[in-house]
Amino acid sequence: MINYFRRYQTGMVLAELYPTIEGKCACGCGKDIPQSRKKWYSTDCRDMAYRTFAIIKGDTSEIRKYLYQLDGGACRYCGSITDDWQADHILPVFEGGAACDISNFQTLCLDCHNEKTHSFPHHNAISSQAVSIVRMRSVYDLGQQSIVA
Ligand SMILES: [Zn+2]
Ligand SMILES: [Zn+2]
Repeated sequence: MINYFRRYQTGMVLAELYPTIEGKCACGCGKDIPQSRKKWYSTDCRDMAYRTFAIIKGDTSEIRKYLYQLDGGACRYCGSITDDWQADHILPVFEGGAACDISNFQTLCLDCHNEKTHSFPHHNAISSQAVSIVRMRSVYDLGQQSIVA
């Protein structure tokens, strides 16, 4: 099940997000598929669906790869291009911003990211969800500090 307060959707399978639809492409494009195909209209449909699946699941490297394609490493607040850019959840995880597709991510430089984190109105009122996210993070820490709420 998808949990919007959890950074990683462990156990989520592709079919939950893209169930097979008889005769139609599973990606949601609405195209009819020939009988010779099982699930996808085209490899583009399939690739896009797999990428979205990986992003919703919380796959750090997929998120960073796609976000870099979109932003080129440039901070959306100040425009500076740095090597240690952060993939920021626009709506933070503890506000229910997890399990979102790329539209909930933005490139931020470290300075702007720190500023956003510290100026967030709920920063001092850590919710029980935030506590559980911290716990999740310690369990599923993949050695990458790149994505932080
Ligand atoms: Zn499709
Ligand atoms: Zn910045």
